[in-house]
Amino acid sequence: MSRYVLVVAELREGALRQVSLEAVAAARMVAGDDGTVAVYLAGHHPQAHTGELHLAGADRIFAEELAAGEPVHTERLLQSLVKIAGPNPPAAVVLGHTAAGRDLAPRLAARLDAGQLSDVIAITPEQGTLAFTRPIYAGKAFEKRIFLREPWIVTIRPNNFPCKPERSAAEEPESASCAVEAVPAPDNGSLRTVIREVVRRTAGKTDLAEAKMIVSGGRGVKSADGFRPLAELADVLGGAVGASRGACDAGYCDYALQIGQTGKVVTPELYIACGISGAIQHVAGMSGSRVIVAINKDPEAPIFKIADYGIVGDLFEVVPLLTEEFKRQLS
Ligand code: FAD
Repeated sequence: MSRYVLVVAELREGALRQVSLEAVAAARMVAGDDGTVAVYLAGHHPQAHTGELHLAGADRIFAEELAAGEPVHTERLLQSLVKIAGPNPPAAVVLGHTAAGRDLAPRLAARLDAGQLSDVIAITPEQGTLAFTRPIYAGKAFEKRIFLREPWIVTIRPNNFPCKPERSAAEEPESASCAVEAVPAPDNGSLRTVIREVVRRTAGKTDLAEAKMIVSGGRGVKSADGFRPLAELADVLGGAVGASRGACDAGYCDYALQIGQTGKVVTPELYIACGISGAIQHVAGMSGSRVIVAINKDPEAPIFKIADYGIVGDLFEVVPLLTEEFKRQLS
């Protein structure tokens, strides 16, 4: 029997979030070639993203128009999703493990009487069913679970599901683009809360949780100004700046940048740790990075135990050298 899988996609600064495209790829894998992947997208001009979603593997889009700058309201999304799922219940729903995804998934699971797993990093076919891998105990161990029945709902961790489009834009005729259905706005009068204001604590287009390259600073950076060379290196790499709690506690940067057990969990291609000792609580948030480079004055720093490449030296000398070299290589 063919499977119908629903994805809840998100926009950030007018662009589709990378993790949403990864969710479409994961849903495509779950649905198989004969199944259907539908995407629900609420935002300003959601139809503008149809082509990109189709290339990523979507067959159908449910598009809900929001006014420009209107914040996404979980209750509102929930109402729309319940209406979409009511007449045609999906076998599965996939969301990004983002703030909105984490807020929405359990509410939707309750409404659809579905099982739910968060922060999934792999979905693998095993013995006629699908197994879901997720980190537990702050990343110190992994567990594999299966669902005993459908429907099920998962949130997926960014940067863990490859989203290379199987169909290329050149191969795909215009007419083959997927069906788009406009979703009427729910009745605001039935909402229990309203969003009065959204206060952004970080600027920049790259979300730390989705960044492919991260340059992170610790207490060794010594001041807010000390983060400047790290930001320059991150710029050259097209990445984002992160921090240890040590640096945040010292007031060198905002807590929005904190990576670790009580901060963000990141899984970039490259993580450059500058002046970070490598406490277990920090490692819990970045040990899933593909390549870890540590720069530290202390050759005994625990960060070197998990680093793929270690540079023993002063970060204020090493980081500018790396920046210059990357500039040369990438120009
Ligand atoms: P330090 O441990 O002080 O290390 C600074 C490093 O910089 C040292 O290794 C030093 O050799 C090096 N250094 C100094 N100067 C230079 C230089 N010029 N060049 C190169 N290297 C230099 N921490 C997190 O990061 N994230 C969390 O989410 C988190 N959650 C926590 C939750 C709990 C419940 C608790 C108890 C702690 C948590 N912590 C967390 C804190 C954690 O235990 C560490 O205290 C913190 O990670 C240390 O930060 P740091 O490595 O920047 O500082």
